Amino acid sequence: MVYRFAYKTYRLPLRAPLLTAHGPWLEREGLIVRLEDEVGRVGFGEIAPLPWFGTETLAGAEEICRKIGAKVAGEALDAVPEHLGCVRFALGQARELPGKVATTTRLPVAALLPAGRVALKALPAKLEAGFLAFKWKVGVGAVDDELVLLDDLLALLPASARLRLDANGGWNRSEAGRWLGRCADRPVEFVEQPVAPAEEDTLLGLARDYPVTIALDESVVRLAGARRWQGRGWPGVFVIKPALAGPLDELVKWVAATKPDVVLSSAIETALGRAAILRAALSQPLTKRALGFGPGGVFGDRRWDGLVIGPLADASCIATNPGEEIWKELT
Ligand code: MG
Repeated sequence: MVYRFAYKTYRLPLRAPLLTAHGPWLEREGLIVRLEDEVGRVGFGEIAPLPWFGTETLAGAEEICRKIGAKVAGEALDAVPEHLGCVRFALGQARELPGKVATTTRLPVAALLPAGRVALKALPAKLEAGFLAFKWKVGVGAVDDELVLLDDLLALLPASARLRLDANGGWNRSEAGRWLGRCADRPVEFVEQPVAPAEEDTLLGLARDYPVTIALDESVVRLAGARRWQGRGWPGVFVIKPALAGPLDELVKWVAATKPDVVLSSAIETALGRAAILRAALSQPLTKRALGFGPGGVFGDRRWDGLVIGPLADASCIATNPGEEIWKELT
């Protein structure tokens, strides 16, 4: 199969800066790709890199797109190197022929709480909306201050709710130990990436030494990374951001074959990338945990944000053909 290929860039300010242990994040940049096959079927895909998170850069992704050129064989698309996980995700998405999602499946969604004390203010409205899974970014302020806030937050949660903590690799071994010790026997679903991805032995040691579940995120940016950690016997959760991990069909096959404990999470992609991920998640059992797609409305523009996702995601959350609309809007 030979395809006609084209791409466009996008740059979107975030409605509110996102604070993480890597610092504030202000705008989302990426590429939209378009593939048209020999019989005129058109598909779109989204390249949404997060270089500070360990993916290829936007410039690197754009260079590959330039090299692909206006006409490309399917074999050349298959041969895009593994480290270009975001590009591979987009090409897979654009080659897939999306049908209707005929399912009544509903998946719970985790709501993202802002870092710091404002989380306490943000929580009641999310509880009111019906969310029962929450994610809070930690490692942003001082450990002592945040541990006090943790107690305050947990005190506000109803018995059926669970809190995820995400340190984005921002702690050292002893800070991580203090946090994990504090989380034991509390309603903490898991603690995400307590220390940096390079600290592999520390991660394995923490998972062995503390009862609270630990999740890898920055450690498993691409599917190959998740496979490697699985090979090392990782006993915890794998947070997979499908838009960064590579082609969705490879993720689906890996989960079906090896049954890892997976959380699917947003990389702050637009409605286009999200539609493919939600379609995959609703069409087959990929995860038993709440989806990490809580931040809805991050761009403040419906065309890019897509449909609002509430505490339960179902087929009605998937925009019809967001690619066409987004493509037309870009120059
Ligand atoms: Mg994370």
